[in-house]
Amino acid sequence: MMSVSNFMKVGLNINFSQFYMKKLKAVIATPSFSDFYTTTHRLSALGERIAEKILQRRGWRTRLLHFPRTGKQVLPLLPALSHLETFLIPGEFGPTAFFSKYQRFGPSPEDSAAIILNEKPDAVFLSCFAFAYADDTLSLARHLKIQRPSVPVYAGGAGVSVLPEYFQAADCIDAVITGEAEKSLPTFLKENPALDNSIDDCLDSPGRIDFSIAMTRSSKKGRWLTTTLSRGCPQKCQFCANHLTHGRVFRTVPIETFLSTLQAFPKDVPMHINFEDDNLLLDKDYFLAILGTIKNQFPRVDFSAENGMDYLLLDVNTLDRLIALGFRQFNLSMASLSTSILKDSHRRGDPEHLQEVLYHLRRKNIPSITYFICGLKKDTADSVIENIGFLSRQPTLMGISLFYPVPGLSGFRDAQPFFKSDSHLCAGSAAFPWSGSLTTAQMITAFRLTRYINFTQKKDYQPHERDLLTRICNERKLYSFQRKGRQKWMVRPPGLDRDMEAAFFKNR
Ligand code: SF4
Repeated sequence: MMSVSNFMKVGLNINFSQFYMKKLKAVIATPSFSDFYTTTHRLSALGERIAEKILQRRGWRTRLLHFPRTGKQVLPLLPALSHLETFLIPGEFGPTAFFSKYQRFGPSPEDSAAIILNEKPDAVFLSCFAFAYADDTLSLARHLKIQRPSVPVYAGGAGVSVLPEYFQAADCIDAVITGEAEKSLPTFLKENPALDNSIDDCLDSPGRIDFSIAMTRSSKKGRWLTTTLSRGCPQKCQFCANHLTHGRVFRTVPIETFLSTLQAFPKDVPMHINFEDDNLLLDKDYFLAILGTIKNQFPRVDFSAENGMDYLLLDVNTLDRLIALGFRQFNLSMASLSTSILKDSHRRGDPEHLQEVLYHLRRKNIPSITYFICGLKKDTADSVIENIGFLSRQPTLMGISLFYPVPGLSGFRDAQPFFKSDSHLCAGSAAFPWSGSLTTAQMITAFRLTRYINFTQKKDYQPHERDLLTRICNERKLYSFQRKGRQKWMVRPPGLDRDMEAAFFKNR
C-alpha cells in the first residue's frame, strides 16, 4: 500500500507568502459517527493527538475537535441496517439485551462543519479511525465543502488507510493521507510546499514512533489515562487489520520518552493507565520494564489493557509480576476454541493454557474477561455454542466480538462490495453475515446467550433480575426486559435462532 496518496482535485488557496507571513491553522477533527454504542477508549483520539503534534512541529497552529465526545442523539435506524429491524426491541434493557438505540455520537455533519469553519482553518484534517465510519467522515467532508469550498479537506486514519480509494472517489476530499501519521503526514506536507513550514527535517526522524496520552476521566478518585506504546504485529491472524495500517514489524516507544511526558501528571494522585496496544506482550521485557519504571515514580498507579492480551504470552510468573506492578483486571482474547477455526484463521490457541491462566487469576482474586469472535468464516452454530459453553465453565466473564470485515483482510480484498454498501454495515454491531458462516439471527442469539452467562455469574440480584433468571432457568428460553415510561415487563426476544437456543439450553 502506498504510504501517501496525494491528489489535488481542488486547488489549495494557500501561497508561500501567506504561509510565511502567518502560521497556518489546521483543524484536526474526529467526525461524529453513528452506531449503537461506543466506549471511552474508542473516544481517546490518540492518533489525532499524534497528528496534531506533527503539525505543530512543522509550524502549524492547531485546534483538535473531537466531536464524538460532545454528546449523542438517538437516530432512526439507517436503511442499510434494516436487516436488524426484526431483532430490535424498543426500550429493551437488562442483562440479556441486544442493542436498542441507534445513535449519533457528536453533532450533525452540518453543525460539525459550521463549528470547524468557525475556527477559520486554512486546512481541515479529518480522522477516520475505523472503516465502518467512512460514510460519517465523508458526510462531514461534504458539508465542509458546501459551506466553504475553498478550505482543503484531507482525510487520514486507519479507516482511510484500509481503502483510500473509497475516499479518493469522493469529490469532497482533496487528498488522503494513509498509513502511520509519523511517516505519511510529514511526507505529505513536504510534497506540498505550501503546507510545509518545517525548518528542521530531523523533527520527524524516519522510524520514529510517536505516542499520545488521553485523559478519558478525571475525578476525586484519580485520573484515567489511555495510551498506546507500540505498533505493528508479526502474527498473521486473518481477522486482524493491524498490519494494514501499521505493518508487521513490532516497534515500541522509548521508555524515557514516555516517562518524560508522564511527568505532567501529579505523583500523589491515583492514576489508572489503560494500554490500547494490540499486542504489547510481544516484548515482555520492555512491557515489564516500563510498568516498573512508572510504578517507581507513580506509586499510586494501576494498569489495564482493555484491548486484550494474548494469553499464550502469559504464564504464572508473568501474571504475578503484572499483578505486583498494578494490573487489576485482565482482558484476554481466545478468538475461538475450535482447532480447525483457529488454524483457518492462522491463529494459535491452547485451551489448557488459557485455563491455567484463568485459574491462576482466580486464585489471585483478579477478575478477567475472555473474548471470542463470533462469525468467523468456518464458524457454525455448534462452534459458537462450544465457545460459550467452554468459557461458561471457566472462572471468567466472557465477551463476544461479532465479526466485521475490514477491506484488505483475507477474503475481503475485493473492494467492490464495500463501494456498493453503506460503510456502517462493517460495524460489529451490524451483525451482518459478511463471512457467510452464521446468520444475523445466530450472531444476535449468541450475543444474548453470552450476556446471559455473565448474568448467571452475578453475586447480587435485584428482585426483577431474580425473576428473569428464574424464568429463563425454568423455561430454558431467553427472555429480556422492555420498558415504556415507568412500566417494565419481560419479553421474548424476537428473531432468535430457536435451534441454537435449544442446543444451548439442552446441556445446561
Ligand atoms: S490479533 Fe493480535 S496477535 Fe493477531 S495479528 Fe492482530 S495484533 Fe497480532
